[in-house]
Amino acid sequence: MSEHSFATRAIHAGQEPDPTTGSIIPPIYQASTHVQDGIGGFREGYEYNRAGNPTRSSLETQLAALEGGTRALSFASGLAAEDALLRGILSPGDHVLLSNDAYGGTYRLLTKVLSKWGIVTTTVELSDPDAVRAAIRPETKIVWIETPSNPLLKIVDIAAIAEIAHAAGALAVVDNTFASPALQQPLALGADLVVHSTTKYLGGHSDVLGGAVVFGDDRFVDDVKFQQFAVGAVSAPFDAWLTTRGIKTLAVRMRQHSENAQAVAEWAAGRPEFSEVYHPGLEDHRGHEVAARQMSGFGGMLSLGLAAGPAAAKAFAESTELFQLAESLGGVESLIGYPPDMTHASVRGTELAVPENIVRLSVGIEDGGDLVADLEQALARISR
Ligand SMILES: *Cc1c(COP(=O)(O)O)cnc(C)c1O
Repeated sequence: MSEHSFATRAIHAGQEPDPTTGSIIPPIYQASTHVQDGIGGFREGYEYNRAGNPTRSSLETQLAALEGGTRALSFASGLAAEDALLRGILSPGDHVLLSNDAYGGTYRLLTKVLSKWGIVTTTVELSDPDAVRAAIRPETKIVWIETPSNPLLKIVDIAAIAEIAHAAGALAVVDNTFASPALQQPLALGADLVVHSTTKYLGGHSDVLGGAVVFGDDRFVDDVKFQQFAVGAVSAPFDAWLTTRGIKTLAVRMRQHSENAQAVAEWAAGRPEFSEVYHPGLEDHRGHEVAARQMSGFGGMLSLGLAAGPAAAKAFAESTELFQLAESLGGVESLIGYPPDMTHASVRGTELAVPENIVRLSVGIEDGGDLVADLEQALARISR
């Protein structure tokens, strides 16, 4: 598969027709266990489904092919994937260097859960290589990169930070949820591992939770797989199948998400009601150059700062009609949220707190003109 281009791999990797019936779509193996041909005589290696399931395997093959990894593991959620990765690789006393606007759930997992087991986490401005060099400690084992970041769409130079991490004997892990592998390939840029919330763009239809770890090489596969097997946060067969189905249209969806978000960002940049437009596709965005270099599109996410302040931001988020007020992102339908009270409520008052005047948009793949018109009517409504 690896000789094919991305859009082809997304549709064919791990998706061979069923050898028994010729069904073009591999079946959903809704089973908890597999018959053995004599004790230990596993067919294709399958025994009990916490250890492995053919539908999950087919998704894992697809995920590895998308990111250009050697292997992938599919989990019940993005955070389950992160947890297995962190516990599989880290030991008490190890240090994790996290971006200062990392996904709040990642911060919570590290500072409220894994901290009890001796994992030390500090945050840093990852878009500043000198700050990263200064923040790395002898016991730093992982530098955790998220780019574009949430909700301020900051851009981190993956190749530069991976090099700094490696020079210090640490691993570079990239949460590639916001860009998706259609727009950004961290392993090719030097990262060691990639994690995903497949709940977002990979699933793409807001109908399934899931997560993935993709490995650039085989060093940590057994350790992370052991955590998955021992703890059991696997994706269910139907969930894995839905994710596989979503991934097949990822390439076309990401093109449309990017095109629509760019249109919204350019419209918003010309409106006095917005004091800030956070989108890497705008030329005056601080990370534009790096994004243009390491991404093949700027993605579907943007945030807007309301010049009139927090109350206006909240009113705006409640005044759209097509943009539905909801957490999450990456589905075909457009969503709007007020991060300080919604996605980022858990980091209010911490070093990860976000501006109080912003709304975050997950721009869907509806007609771009309809989306801009919806935002225009919301502005008109809140100015009345
Ligand atoms: C949603 C999200 C996660 C967590 O994934 P879940 O599937 O909700 O557990 C992690 N990282 C990023 C960037 C996310 O957006």
